[in-house]
Amino acid sequence: MTDRKAVLEGLRDELIERIDRYRAHKERRGGALDKDIEEQAVEVQNDDVVDGLEREAEEELAQVMRALARLEAGEGDDCERCGEPIDPRRLQALPYTTVCVDCAEP
Ligand SMILES: [Zn+2]
Repeated sequence: MTDRKAVLEGLRDELIERIDRYRAHKERRGGALDKDIEEQAVEVQNDDVVDGLEREAEEELAQVMRALARLEAGEGDDCERCGEPIDPRRLQALPYTTVCVDCAEP
């Protein structure tokens, strides 16, 4: 079995780096004002996309941090909702999950 903590830490670092890149992208754009309206529209649209990606990465990061915290508390392999052990195959496929397959279903 792979070390889930190491996998999660890798994911966390990757996400932090990604969020940094999105922010840098937006800041760069904020500094340079455009001459061309059309160009501006494209950039604003692009920013919406980056905003969406950033939000997604932030949510994923929050989930990874929660899984890491639970892992460190010694309860990382148990479902957050029902307390039953989470299937190891599920943990392998989704290392950041904190619920078992039954509780993940709506
Ligand atoms: Zn459960």
